[in-house]
Amino acid sequence: MDAARIVHADEDAGNWLTHGRTYSEQRFSPLTGISTANVGQLGLAWSLDLDTTRGQEATPLVIDGVMYSTSAWSKVQAIDASTGKLLWQYDPRVPGEYAAKACCDVVNRGLAAWDGRLFVGTLDGRLVALDAATGTEVWSVVTVDQTKAYTITGAPRIVKGKVIIGNGGAEFGVRGYISAYDTRDGKQLWRFYTVPGDPSLGFEQPVLAEAAKTWKGEWWRLGGGGTVWDSMAYDPELDLLYFGTGNGSPWNQKIRSPGGGDNLFLSSIVAVHPDTGEYVWHYQTTPGESWDYTATQHIVLADVSIGGETRKVLLQAPKNGFFYVLDRVTGKLISAEKYGAVNWASGVDLATGRPVENPDARYPDPEKPWFALPGALGAHNWHPMSFSPQTGLIYIPANDLMYAYIDRPQFKASPVSFNTGVDPTRTRMLKPDKSAPAAPVRGLLRAWDPIAQKEAWSVEHPGPWNGGVLSTAGGLVFQGNAVGLFNAYDARNGKLLWSAAAQTGIVAAPITYRVKDEQFVAVVVGWGGVYPNVAGEAARKGSLAVNRSRVLAFKLGGVGSLPDPAPAATFTAVPRVGDDAAAAVGFRLFHDHCSRCHGAGAVSGGVIPDLRWSAFARDGDAWKSVVLGGALKDRGMISFSSVIGEADAEALRAYVTQRSNQSTP
Ligand code: CA
Repeated sequence: MDAARIVHADEDAGNWLTHGRTYSEQRFSPLTGISTANVGQLGLAWSLDLDTTRGQEATPLVIDGVMYSTSAWSKVQAIDASTGKLLWQYDPRVPGEYAAKACCDVVNRGLAAWDGRLFVGTLDGRLVALDAATGTEVWSVVTVDQTKAYTITGAPRIVKGKVIIGNGGAEFGVRGYISAYDTRDGKQLWRFYTVPGDPSLGFEQPVLAEAAKTWKGEWWRLGGGGTVWDSMAYDPELDLLYFGTGNGSPWNQKIRSPGGGDNLFLSSIVAVHPDTGEYVWHYQTTPGESWDYTATQHIVLADVSIGGETRKVLLQAPKNGFFYVLDRVTGKLISAEKYGAVNWASGVDLATGRPVENPDARYPDPEKPWFALPGALGAHNWHPMSFSPQTGLIYIPANDLMYAYIDRPQFKASPVSFNTGVDPTRTRMLKPDKSAPAAPVRGLLRAWDPIAQKEAWSVEHPGPWNGGVLSTAGGLVFQGNAVGLFNAYDARNGKLLWSAAAQTGIVAAPITYRVKDEQFVAVVVGWGGVYPNVAGEAARKGSLAVNRSRVLAFKLGGVGSLPDPAPAATFTAVPRVGDDAAAAVGFRLFHDHCSRCHGAGAVSGGVIPDLRWSAFARDGDAWKSVVLGGALKDRGMISFSSVIGEADAEALRAYVTQRSNQSTP
């Protein structure tokens, strides 16, 4: 792998050389061996069991017959791409307690390849170079301050011998940045901070002096956020690197930047020179972000005809529900329209590029929640979309999910709990708030015409949080879903042409490749990510709510099958302890500290243990040994003794045992 090969990845149809297949990140394959005419003959070629039961979000690479993938806990696999034989696995041995620093499960979305090496970011903030032939570590550098809650879940990209990586943590008070390292030795070459730090210490980049004018108060004490945790794209002709930035930390702007301001560069798409990290332009999707409306979502580059003129555009469907078409030379907005249910803004003013906000959207009433569409999980989250130059359509794994926003009284920054500044006990994910309006909870595959800015067709899935998307020159769109079906659709009209059962929810994006004239379609399966962890009962509806992690590969005439799954475990209620008053105290504590993994209402979405049935809750000392003593820290359940005491721990036990004995959610 070198610069020439990766720039020409599109012509290298049999391989999948970089995260989005090409630098344009279109996730469109020119392969035509599997097509609308024969997709019905697709069958399982091979499967490989993974050794974790957490969320699987990776897009594998395929280089000359070898598949390289990642799995939860930042592990890396090399697999024979035609047989599924595991050639080697690399385990970076991420300390288990790091799971508590991750907002959204211990996932990893993929790796990068260059000059015989592979590059992966680990959950604990390392960037590691491996020998692609053996999986042996060549070098490893720590890219974050490990005393803070930084994590890496995104795939690195490599441009001209520089490996580029960001990080996450904007729910825990960090300051976002993206860095470049030398692929040869791991030497740091540049770093671009996405939000200004303490002005009295000077600014690392000149543009941050301008950005600081858009902030108020002492934002740097709270971190600011703006993490670069997923999307990047590169245009070799313009020599520009694009990346998306995340939400503010905390979400609630009244706390983060009292008095308002745009808070650059939160929720923005930023273009920089890849050699130096020097700022070129930015477009901010959500000025003064206050809803977790990240713009880290997948960025696609395409050359399209608009008004008879070929334009170099950048396409993004960020969380905020608007589909943006930008001129990627200048960053100027071409168009923006709602691609899902949106009520926080009525539209985007094309003259100023700014949203026209609903005056209620910033939850001004301290007593009454604002029920926002989209909610914090977004109208589209990290799940990759796909652009087919053949149909001119972009295929978006979309959601319609509401969230309630209301100020959290007595905000206190905490390194072990979500720092959102909004009250999590008022969300619709709980036993419905009586004041909540009826709103859809759904997941769709939306085929979107980016030029006309309208939907071409859509398919509704049984629930939200479905897989990333692949489109092919065979006229197909592939997507897995939360109920464990891996589907192929006609790219023109959404007609379902083929389906296979994966026995687990699918959130990752498929790829396709060719080995010795045989085309394969592969996908990493395994339910997980933020939705099953936080959404409680909602995440059990329209999903299998079970994780069985594997890599699956399909080919025409494949006759493989998966073993019958083990029967689901049965659970018995835990006897109640404490009274209703104690349980009410526990309810508040649970939703401040526990629900981000164990689910709203103490209902698990199928990945993290469901505390309603916890054996530890049967015994007060056992419970304390976990909650305060950190007995299960190696599995991610750290001690919460820095934020709660013994009486609090017992109140939490009162709450989960109360929930254990309630038959309805
Ligand atoms: Ca976030």
